[in-house]
Amino acid sequence: MAMKGYKYPGEVPWNDIELGAIVSEPGSASFKRTGDWRTERPEVDKEKCIKCGICWLHCPDAAIIPMDDGYFLPELYYCKGCGICAAVCPTDAITMIEEVE
Ligand code: SF4
Ligand code: SF4
Repeated sequence: MAMKGYKYPGEVPWNDIELGAIVSEPGSASFKRTGDWRTERPEVDKEKCIKCGICWLHCPDAAIIPMDDGYFLPELYYCKGCGICAAVCPTDAITMIEEVE
C-alpha cells in the first residue's frame, strides 16, 4: 500500500488517516472475514524468529496466533495487513509482502 511518507499503514498517526466508516452490527468482528481488506500480508521467516511473542502482543486485531511449536504466526482470515508486527519484530523476521489474488 503506497502511503505518502509512511512505510506501513500502521505508522500513520490518527490525525493523518483519511476519513472512512465501517457499518456493521455490534459484536460481529469474530465472524467477519476482515482479512479481505488487506493489501499486504506478513510473512514470517522462521530462521530469524526467536519466538519472543512481541508481534503477538502488538497486533491490534489479535491476528497473531501462538503455535504449539513456539512460533507466532499470522491468521490471515483476520489480519488487516497493518504492518505493526513487522515494525516491532526485533529480528526483522516479519516481512510485509504485497497481497495477490
Ligand atoms: S516478534 Fe519476530 S522474533 Fe518475535 S515471535 Fe514475532 S516473528 Fe518471532
Ligand atoms: S499485519 Fe501483523 S499486526 Fe497487522 S493485523 Fe496483520 S498480523 Fe496483526
